[in-house]
Amino acid sequence: MGTRIYVEIWADDQQKGEAAIDAVMDEMRHIDDSMSTYKPTSEVSKVNALAATRPVPISPELFKLLGTALEYSRITEGAFDITYASVGYMYDFRERRRPTEEQIKVALPAVNYRHVLLNPRTHSVRFSRAGVRIDLGGIAKGYSVDRGIEILQARGYSHALVNAGGDSRVIGDRFGRPWVVGIRHPDHPDQIITRIPLVDAAFSTSGDYERYFDEDGVRYHHIIDPHTGHSASKVRSATVIAPTATRTDGLSKTAFVLGPDEAMRIYNGLDDVDAVLVTPEGRIVYSRGLQPGDAPSAPAAPATGAAADAAPGAAPAVH
Ligand code: ADP
Ligand code: MG
Repeated sequence: MGTRIYVEIWADDQQKGEAAIDAVMDEMRHIDDSMSTYKPTSEVSKVNALAATRPVPISPELFKLLGTALEYSRITEGAFDITYASVGYMYDFRERRRPTEEQIKVALPAVNYRHVLLNPRTHSVRFSRAGVRIDLGGIAKGYSVDRGIEILQARGYSHALVNAGGDSRVIGDRFGRPWVVGIRHPDHPDQIITRIPLVDAAFSTSGDYERYFDEDGVRYHHIIDPHTGHSASKVRSATVIAPTATRTDGLSKTAFVLGPDEAMRIYNGLDDVDAVLVTPEGRIVYSRGLQPGDAPSAPAAPATGAAADAAPGAAPAVH
């Protein structure tokens, strides 16, 4: 997945605890083997190679995640779209490579989640036209975090954190206090602009400072607007809080594409979702559930468990 994985658990038995962490890491490797577009042998690479010519039978796991990805496309009014890769594969942020306007124009019609057709009867996927490529880079990390948490829960752990890049989920609290999530300043990695206490919640931060290069005053970065094929820059960072990391990962790209107002309309319309956005001007925008004074006074609200004033203490995850 090209990222560091961080797992923290509270275990009475060190050996069992380490075995649980090994099991989480094994699961992450399995998901990477199946879903990476960097691995020509992965299921997703096979789908990209064949699905425009014929239906490709896929594993129940991938089938389900593709269904979830398409659902997020509908929820976000097309801002989240795994077919972004039909253009996105031409970017290489490490090599400072980007497609020409002409290349974008030719490839852009293939970007549309409606081109991905799932057949539940045959558990297969097909693309409705040539040139379509999918990439789960915007949801697979969140999914792997959820799988990691499920593995820990199945082994009886009830206080844990699993983090993969910008995606995290916590179960329980941390020594009787909420886990505290720090949101970093987009330009200064060591500056925290706000802290959010969480219990039993997932959170994802997307930022334009993660994978990018600057050229002639323009920042080219890894979140792509499916409508234009260009980097989406309507916010600098977006943090989404919800019960699962698959959900927060799938929703954190939206604000870059739609901008703070439209994105907040969508987030506020979802009962189990909260968000913190940093605008290009450096303004911090909070969703309804995080408005100061508006938060529940009970220690843990359902779903997000966010409270109004940040608890002091360690910030285990900074994004
Ligand atoms: P991280 O990889 O650190 O979790 P994000 O959650 O912000 O970062 O996801 C960024 C990734 O999402 C990109 O690298 C790319 O693989 C994918 N992506 C980019 N644009 C879109 C989009 N419009 N819809 C869905 N996925 C996208
Ligand atoms: Mg992510």
